[in-house]
Amino acid sequence: MKIRWRVGALITLRLSLAACGAITDTSLTAPALSVIEGSPTLHFSPAPLLTSSPAPLLSHTPSPPLTNTPAPPCDPRLTFCIESGHFLFQRPIALPDTDTVDPTYRYGSTQTGTRQPHHGVEFYNASGTPVLAAAEGAVVYAGDDKQTLLSPWPNFYGNLIVIEHHFDSIAPPVFTLYAHLSKIDVSAGQTVAVGEKIGEVGASGAAIGSHLHFEVRLGENNYASNRNPVLWLRPLSGEDGNPYGLIAGRFVDSQGNPIYYTSLNIQYFPDLNAPQAAAYTVETYASEKQPVRGDDQWQENFALSDLPAGNYRISYLWLGVLYERWVEVQPGKVTLATFIIQ
Ligand SMILES: [Zn+2]
Repeated sequence: MKIRWRVGALITLRLSLAACGAITDTSLTAPALSVIEGSPTLHFSPAPLLTSSPAPLLSHTPSPPLTNTPAPPCDPRLTFCIESGHFLFQRPIALPDTDTVDPTYRYGSTQTGTRQPHHGVEFYNASGTPVLAAAEGAVVYAGDDKQTLLSPWPNFYGNLIVIEHHFDSIAPPVFTLYAHLSKIDVSAGQTVAVGEKIGEVGASGAAIGSHLHFEVRLGENNYASNRNPVLWLRPLSGEDGNPYGLIAGRFVDSQGNPIYYTSLNIQYFPDLNAPQAAAYTVETYASEKQPVRGDDQWQENFALSDLPAGNYRISYLWLGVLYERWVEVQPGKVTLATFIIQ
């Protein structure tokens, strides 16, 4: 009984804190744990109608100079924040081949402790599928990795290509890496255009099955400079023609320390009065433990991409206490949220 009260109190607090975002009903006390399997109990309060006040009469009294007080920045610990993102790359695989990221081994994932933390993402495709440059750039490496130090040990990536990119919107160079190739079409020093075929998918190096390993490195071309590619790839579009959005979150303890290599549940509710339409599991990562880095600004340690716009519930069960956050995903935007476990 005591635990149930605590759970309810925690959920009430978190829903209240989330009220600065799109969810406006702060009076709800979600039932303990039952929300996981049943329909959500949240309801939206209608937004107040705008009242059309008459315009004030003009007077000749000079108005005081405007004080330019900036609005306080959004605090992702209290609510969710919507960011434009930095989607500088197109997919390295084009339709009709598989241009979606494999959900079983996302960036930072260890597949529940059975594999190395993943420094990139996988695009599963047959051997020989064209691999395309994600943006215009200069090839800085094309060959095998028997001698180079681009990977943790020799012949890890097999045949690989690294392209260096420069963008007006970001100061350091950004590198994209394409690994396990069966064929390389370019050579170091060559300039490539966005979408240009640079090689073909394969299974060279330490690959389990034929796929493209795609990596983004910021600032320097080394194994420890990786970032989550899904935060850099332009979102795909849904059937309604709108681009998908994504969630980038921080999962931390009360001291702000990232909690890593644990799984969070994320559920999609296009209609809050209906059951979930989709459910996902994401594994958290942390740069302090392994060189799997978050974004320089956001410092996220979990991310989920290609999400239809709508309401999402992030939940985590810890020592009998259910923690949850509700966030909204908007088309083509990044939703930031910091999830704190007490
Ligand atoms: Zn990989």
